[in-house]
Amino acid sequence: MTGLKPNISIVAPLYNESETFPRLVERLNALMDTHPNRIEIVLINDGSKDNTPELMRQLALTDQRYHCVFLARNYGHQIALTAGLSQTRATDAIMVIDGDLQDPPELLNEMYQKYQEGYDVVYAVRRKRKENWFKRTAYATFYRFLKSISYIEIPLDSGDFSLMSRRVVDILNKMPEESRYIRGMRSWIGFRQTGIEYERAERAAGESKYSIGLLIKLAYNGIFNFSEYPIKFMKRMGYGAIFISMIYFIITLFKKLVFNDVPQGFTAILFAIIFIGGLQLFFLGILGEYVLRIFFQVKGRPLFIIANTIENCEQVEA
Ligand code: UDP
Ligand code: MG
Repeated sequence: MTGLKPNISIVAPLYNESETFPRLVERLNALMDTHPNRIEIVLINDGSKDNTPELMRQLALTDQRYHCVFLARNYGHQIALTAGLSQTRATDAIMVIDGDLQDPPELLNEMYQKYQEGYDVVYAVRRKRKENWFKRTAYATFYRFLKSISYIEIPLDSGDFSLMSRRVVDILNKMPEESRYIRGMRSWIGFRQTGIEYERAERAAGESKYSIGLLIKLAYNGIFNFSEYPIKFMKRMGYGAIFISMIYFIITLFKKLVFNDVPQGFTAILFAIIFIGGLQLFFLGILGEYVLRIFFQVKGRPLFIIANTIENCEQVEA
């Protein structure tokens, strides 16, 4: 590949994926061998604790189609992907897949076809999820909720699995936001976008690296980075509370003036105090989410640190 730039880059982040690694390489090799275009594979080691980096090293030192990036520590999927995208050299298009073979790399042919028809983003839409019902329902509900409150159009049931044109990835690389929700940023960029359906496979081996906690964090990033709804919601609840208290005040005044009836009700007061107190704490929490995001963004730290890379079968220290 020396000298000649690849047409297509395929990016896959890896975190403790030594079990799936041989199968991933097998599938990618088969794809490259049959594809008419020059393809480079960009693998990112996101601070794995198993022997994933060793496997990557062995491969990239002997096969120059593999371009490996080793991060200084574990940064999480979205940042690992960001690091990978920044290292791609493809002239035409960049495909993003998970390293656990849940996203079939063979969809490249269909996606690239769409790219040649003039689409800048071709995202994959899950037809069926082969995961347990809890995760399926949770995902489906979340995507629909986010769509209803978001100020940009994020297609339903699409993840990061996609093919993007060079110019879209160049724009993504220039977006400095710290809490990244790549599928949302990709929609925000615009140009011509389209989806193609596919069936999401089960993990080839190993376990999901996304715990419930991490999934909630990703969902928060989607909500707080692409919607002002939580703030609006607070405002509306505030108006509502004022409105109700005004009515209550008028009723009380009326009772006092007409019937000379002094209001009683210790429980009602107690309830009101606890309710309003809880509401205020909840709203402070929502405000906190935005403040926290501002705090991390303002620090302006680099999003990731690259320890070293292997390109063209040679190790490059960062
Ligand atoms: N991943 C990563 N860093 C992390 C967690 C995950 O690079 O901290 C990678 C992981 O190796 C996989 C992809 O991100 O290639 C998706 O992760 P996973 O399969 O665990 O998520 P799920 O498919 O369950 O949503
Ligand atoms: Mg997975």
